[in-house]
Amino acid sequence: MTDFLFEHFDAIFTIMLVITLLGFGFVIVSIFSPTVRSKMMGRQIRMTKRVLDDNYDTIRDLSGTAADLGVDIQKDIYDRHEDDYHDLAKRKASVYKDADSDIAKAMKEGFSDSSRRTTCRYCGQTIDADSRFCNHCGKQQ
Ligand SMILES: [Zn+2]
Repeated sequence: MTDFLFEHFDAIFTIMLVITLLGFGFVIVSIFSPTVRSKMMGRQIRMTKRVLDDNYDTIRDLSGTAADLGVDIQKDIYDRHEDDYHDLAKRKASVYKDADSDIAKAMKEGFSDSSRRTTCRYCGQTIDADSRFCNHCGKQQ
């Protein structure tokens, strides 16, 4: 095998060079020619479609099996860790409850903060210090 490679090195090298140049040329042509590009893309799409069509039943069976397996595994995991999931959900709920009450408290404090409130210079109602318009009379501040 090695002898063969050495003896025919020139020929092999030439063939490799031609193949490389043809590939390179094809890439250049497809970059500059939308027709060639779209023909190649059309061919690829047709090939993909044919492969999918030929293996339609297999693919359908396969995805059905995968879906069944996924559901089974998920069910198995939930069954085996039911108590853990239950505790987790309870803890999550209590965390959200605490967070909600914290947010509500912060909002209440924020609204009652007198330094962030001012009076409208037209109607005299209390409004946010940074608001551009009065929400009572609508005039620009
Ligand atoms: Zn006003």
